Amino acid sequence: MKVLVRGNSIRCSQCEKMFPSGYEYRMHWESEHFYPYLKTNSFDFKRALEDASYNRNVERLIKEISNNI
Ligand SMILES: [Zn+2]
Repeated sequence: MKVLVRGNSIRCSQCEKMFPSGYEYRMHWESEHFYPYLKTNSFDFKRALEDASYNRNVERLIKEISNNI
C-alpha cells in the first residue's frame, strides 16, 4: 500500500531544504539566508529597523521573497 505524504512541498532555493509551508520556508530563509547576509555586509539590522527608510527596504525584500513562494 502506497502512502502519499503531504507536506515538505517547498524547497529552499538556497540550500534545498524542504518545508511544509511558505511560513516555515520564510522563517528559515530569513534566519539562514537573510540576516546572516546582512551581517556579512556590515549591515546593522537592529539600527535599520529603527530607520523607516531602511525598514521599508527590508519589508520590500521580504515581500519579494514571499511573492516567490
Ligand atoms: Zn535554505
